[in-house]
Amino acid sequence: MKKVLITGAAGFLGSHLTDRFLKEGYYVIGMDNFITGDKKNIQHLEENPNFEFIEHDVTKYISIDGDLDYILHFASPASPIDYLKIPIQTLKVGSLGTHNLLGLAKDKKARILIASTSEIYGDPLVHPQTEDYYGNVNTIGPRGVYDESKRFQESITMAYHRFHGVETRIVRIFNTYGPRMRLNDGRVIPAFMGQALRGEDLTIFGDGSQTRSFCYVDDEVDGIYRLLLSDYAYPVNIGNPNEITIKDFAEEIIKLTGTKQKVIYQDLPVNDPMQRQPDISLAKKLLGWEPKVDRAEGMKITYEYFKSLTEEELYKSEH
Ligand code: NAD
Ligand code: UDP
Repeated sequence: MKKVLITGAAGFLGSHLTDRFLKEGYYVIGMDNFITGDKKNIQHLEENPNFEFIEHDVTKYISIDGDLDYILHFASPASPIDYLKIPIQTLKVGSLGTHNLLGLAKDKKARILIASTSEIYGDPLVHPQTEDYYGNVNTIGPRGVYDESKRFQESITMAYHRFHGVETRIVRIFNTYGPRMRLNDGRVIPAFMGQALRGEDLTIFGDGSQTRSFCYVDDEVDGIYRLLLSDYAYPVNIGNPNEITIKDFAEEIIKLTGTKQKVIYQDLPVNDPMQRQPDISLAKKLLGWEPKVDRAEGMKITYEYFKSLTEEELYKSEH
């Protein structure tokens, strides 16, 4: 049985990846310190004999007994309000945390895949974004803590690949959504759905002309799984190219939820990217991958999830 370590396993993507690897017949070690994650996301695995959990901060030395075949490094605050609230931890998990995990991969002769992001392109001047675009990031802006942490993460990963011959994979993830997103993580989908469920107006930041391209979690996980098993060491975009303005997206959510509320406009956060759309030609060619779930279907499933939360969860403002 192949053994895989997944960091950030109690988070949104990490918990879905854990489910996928267990389904594929792997033994999974999940690691998390719960800084933005939730025990609830892995509760269903408590009795699973092929899953074990280690509560640990990956910025501290990591020790794992026995062999490891694969490592997936997904630990990191990922939503703007999270990384603005915990900026130093965000920088540390991308730098010190990645360094520890690369050292572990080298020691165990394991293949490691690291979770990078479309955010390394910053406010992009190339559209749609291809992997060979270097990006447009404000290093000292408030979002810089996340963007630069991820850019450093890519650099140190390539250094371990080139200098130590570690088998590395880099996925650049574009906005992903689905069940187990945290209702109060500030990202636009939980924000709008939470507002609709609480009977509040939907808050559009800026004039709503900025765009995003949303990928359903099962598609994202499938792309990541295929990339890990490929032999390609350079970054690959995995996301859904179906682009929409935030204003039009708010209208879709109003229709889906049937809320009688309206949209209200608030200030655009500093350095909020104006457009974002993955070019996925490389993923198609290399991995034979493209997304299958369209937004209407994915949003319906996600809304059902948010509707199933308790009143207490719906009104809780802090994690
Ligand atoms: P999340 O906040 O739901 O999950 C992150 C998990 O990492 C949490 O469970 C958190 O407790 C854990 N964590 C953070 N710091 C840690 C540390 N020092 N030690 C141990 N555990 C730690 O976020 P997510 O959306 O699941 O994102 C997962 C990964 O994917 C992140 O690396 C993120 O940058 C990347 N990513 C996500 C998206 C997206 O749309 N969701 C887009 C691009 C990149
Ligand atoms: N956004 C918004 N209202 C909200 C939350 C977010 O208009 O209540 C906007 C945000 O400014 C950004 C887009 O939605 O332009 C996506 O934001 P999110 O935080 O989900 O992802 P990211 O900016 O990291 O792509």
